Amino acid sequence: MIKKVLIANRGEIAVRIIRACAELNIRSVAVYTEPDRYGLHVKRADESFSVGDDPIQGYLDPLKLVNLALQTKCDAIHPGYGFLSENAELARLCERKGVTFIGPSSEVIAKMGDKTAARDAMREAGVPVTPGSDGNLEDVAQAIAVAKEIGYPVMLKATSGGGGRGIRRCDTEQELKVNFPRVISEATKAFGSADVFLEKCIVDPLHIEAQILADGQGNVIHLYERDCSIQRRNQKLIEIAPSPQITPEQRQYIGELAVRAAKAVDYQSAGTVEFLLTGNEVYFMEMNTRIQVEHTITEQITGVDIVQEQLRVASGMPLRYQQSDIHYQGYALQFRINAEDPKNDFLPSFGKVTHYYAPGGPGVRVDTAIFTGYDIPPFYDSMCLKLIVWALNWEDALNRGKRALDDMRLHGIKTTANYYQQILSHPNFVNANFNTSFVAEHPELLKYSDKRHPSEIALALAAAIAAHTSV
Ligand code: ADP
Ligand code: ADP
Ligand code: MG
Repeated sequence: MIKKVLIANRGEIAVRIIRACAELNIRSVAVYTEPDRYGLHVKRADESFSVGDDPIQGYLDPLKLVNLALQTKCDAIHPGYGFLSENAELARLCERKGVTFIGPSSEVIAKMGDKTAARDAMREAGVPVTPGSDGNLEDVAQAIAVAKEIGYPVMLKATSGGGGRGIRRCDTEQELKVNFPRVISEATKAFGSADVFLEKCIVDPLHIEAQILADGQGNVIHLYERDCSIQRRNQKLIEIAPSPQITPEQRQYIGELAVRAAKAVDYQSAGTVEFLLTGNEVYFMEMNTRIQVEHTITEQITGVDIVQEQLRVASGMPLRYQQSDIHYQGYALQFRINAEDPKNDFLPSFGKVTHYYAPGGPGVRVDTAIFTGYDIPPFYDSMCLKLIVWALNWEDALNRGKRALDDMRLHGIKTTANYYQQILSHPNFVNANFNTSFVAEHPELLKYSDKRHPSEIALALAAAIAAHTSV
């Protein structure tokens, strides 16, 4: 078994990995850049090391991180999500220097990180992919020709894109002409690659993704699916497991497709195969070759600790489960509590958390690295807390979600929490009838009041008076 892991990440996912290590008696090493010196992941790890003053560069330097792993006698590196998690170079360096990379091989990362290569591999494996260009586009003329063939609307996408960026819908040839240079420039800036391709735009689809686990012995299983259709600007906000919107036959089919996809590329570790659904059609969209933000809800419905399985598999051990061992129960929802102002076009709202009170009680899980007094740095992702609820049925899960969101106190910054209360009360959400257009189609849900509860205002007032009179 792996004995010591360097965690090449920060924030809640670093804390999540440290927790899994601790439960398996694996030592953990945190890395931090200057703004994260007092971060929770630094406090919770067994050891911690600075990787520089620049807020981001240290988290993005494969050579520095692998060398640090060697110096600190770590036998493995866990990349988390974001940062270098889908960077084949880090995996390759690990392979070369004898450090275990907790994830699939560098070859698989490279292949699946390239969305057109991934589409090719899936087509070959008999997994249905969205109709689109064969590989990357040479120029706008080719884009126009392909679009004519598959029909508008089309999606223009960055081949190495991620995080919802580098994607534009084009409804007409004119829009395609305008967007073509834009996506190329976005892709170059954000991902360092100018490659783009075209896909048919599936109108009002469900985003359904399957969690898979694979070991080095050829065992591949799925842990059922998640419904991530509640998105803004192609980024997930609320995730649900299992999907309340698909049939048992679709569930079975999607799970099998995901396993087929993973087997086709000799996948190892945890991974996610993302699909778009419309009616009875299912299309492969992409594969994420890492732990995902929303792995938590799958853990809640199946009882499988996905990060622990990653650690076992990376140690060369077989999966603890066969497909027939995997059962799910109830519904889990994850609310991405982002430091953002939904009323102001989801603009980031970084700053000091003046007061934080964690929600709790039955069926509630919180994955976060914030605490009262924590100053959310502006350099990273705006997601600052994941609130996960679980209950035996859909209705109870919704009520628990409302109650837990109401429990939580997170002051000092604007967050998406109150907005989620609105979504939870909308009849289409309650009736499990929503798709990826839900957020865009319901701007009225942004018209809620941010006013705090009277008792809270009284408390704040009392505190202010006390502070004033005590000096
Ligand atoms: P998930 O599919 O798990 O929801 P996301 O796609 O939202 O994951 O990405 C998880 C994190 O990684 C986010 O912080 C996102 O901004 C970041 N991310 C994902 N892919 C990339 C990429 N190619 N380049 C930069 N950041 C990325
Ligand atoms: P990323 O790598 O940024 O996660 P994805 O390819 O997974 O990019 O797409 C992100 C989101 O964009 C999807 O969840 C979906 O809402 C939307 N999307 C992507 N491709 C299509 C498509 N062909 N038709 C309709 N929506 C799409
Ligand atoms: Mg995706």
